[in-house]
Amino acid sequence: MLYDKLCAIFEYMKYERIKNFINGKFTDVTSEKILFINSPVDGTFLTELPCSTGADLEEAVNSAKAAFLLWSKTPIKERVQVFFRYKFLLEKHLQELAALCSEENGKTISESVAEIEKCIELTEFACSLPQLVTGETLEVSKGIECRTERVPLGVVASIVPFNFPAMVPNWTIPNAIALGNCMIIKPSEKVPLSIGRIAMLLKEAGLPDGVFNIVHGDAEIVNAICDHPGIEAVSFVGSTNAAKAVYRRATENLKRCLALGGAKNHLLVLPDATPDMTAQNVTASMSGCAGQRCMAASAMVGVGPVDHIIDKICIEARKLIPGENLGAVINKAAQQRIERYITEAEQQGAKILVDGRNVVVQGKENGTYVGATVIDYVTPDMAVAKEEIFGPVISIIRTNTIDEALAIENANPYGNAASVFTQNGGAARYVMEKASAGMIGVNIGVPVPREPFSFGGWNESKFGVGDITGKSSIEFWTKLKKSTTKWNPEAGVNWMS
Ligand code: NAD
Repeated sequence: MLYDKLCAIFEYMKYERIKNFINGKFTDVTSEKILFINSPVDGTFLTELPCSTGADLEEAVNSAKAAFLLWSKTPIKERVQVFFRYKFLLEKHLQELAALCSEENGKTISESVAEIEKCIELTEFACSLPQLVTGETLEVSKGIECRTERVPLGVVASIVPFNFPAMVPNWTIPNAIALGNCMIIKPSEKVPLSIGRIAMLLKEAGLPDGVFNIVHGDAEIVNAICDHPGIEAVSFVGSTNAAKAVYRRATENLKRCLALGGAKNHLLVLPDATPDMTAQNVTASMSGCAGQRCMAASAMVGVGPVDHIIDKICIEARKLIPGENLGAVINKAAQQRIERYITEAEQQGAKILVDGRNVVVQGKENGTYVGATVIDYVTPDMAVAKEEIFGPVISIIRTNTIDEALAIENANPYGNAASVFTQNGGAARYVMEKASAGMIGVNIGVPVPREPFSFGGWNESKFGVGDITGKSSIEFWTKLKKSTTKWNPEAGVNWMS
């Protein structure tokens, strides 16, 4: 406490030291391991984050377990009332949440506003869950009824990445909790602030203490979550290597797990594509949230002569001004990694049409920015063609046929999204059928399915069965109870009874 006060007096850091949220209260983390959090926008020292220990997790699991006894027995129509109120609170605090999200993540305010609007849509879906989990009954034999009902799992965990500090947590919080589970969330250690505000709004909305808990930390506490016998299911969103590690560890411990990984999304552009619309979509997809979206366009595969469209993409890319309508990337390491990719491609013979390296934003010299970058004549063997860059960079690969373009898309190990830009319905249909990705777009740069449709990729972009949002998430967050009843003795006994 004294330390926090001294920090505030000397304006040492902007927010007080990060705390866990357990049993409805913010609680101190006693840990030797402290991470320092700076804003990517201008380098402001925001806060310190102590990494939780096994003892902190134990406290959170105990609190969630205790809350589960009552919460799981609360009828779903009552449980969703919390989320009707939460939706109202998200609307009321939209601007304030968006500002916090931008401050810690670096995205522009309008991008953060869109992120909170998406949280509202996710919550609306959770409010509709009573309509979707009514179960089934049938008289299967004379006087004998079978009935199914969806039952919550117990204490569940949600591990989330840095790129959407509010939205990705809200992929799991409303659905898992409305379905009767109690949750422990492990936010990204790079963006620990927004989630604290979300916890306060859930409490204000009337969520009972212990139903939602936050445990901050890094990979070490994720491992402890995967190992903890009191946690029934783990959902994970992050990079592919971490997703694989979490999936292996959680399932080795016999937990249900759904782990979403990284991405390398291909946009196939045909010569008949509408030039302006295509250029705007490609540019917005690769640069939105500074390219730090798992649905971002990363490789554009031109099929035949598409120079007229590439020219327009360059015009659009040059309109993006870092620090104004293009946000920051998360930290210095990310900035350096992205610039390394660009330099390596250039050294290997690719042509940099628009160069976003070495950006300095006046007045925000300590911010971490990369300008929009367009790289042409990329070949499929280059790292910029194959790997997730996670920055505002589009790598253009030129091909002559749709099959050649699809072979490149299919060969990539990821499989989150793929899009095609064309006015030819047959060509679009062909790409929809042949692309190896879970989410396909036609003339759409970011083909995110909206609720009630579910979100989830294929291949190395997702491990586990089902999707994380929408109707598909119901299966993940519940188990099915099947009851068979007979109340009329005269029904007799035969092989079916
Ligand atoms: P990250 O994998 O570094 O971290 C994600 C979470 O996992 C964090 O909470 C972190 O503490 C934890 N973590 C990191 N390494 C770990 C390890 N070895 N073992 C256990 N836990 C570990 O990801 P990030 O940098 O925060 O986010 C960017 C990545 O997330 C990108 O690859 C992006 O494509 C991906 N992402 C995917 C989706 C999707 O829907 N598929 C959505 C958003 C982000």
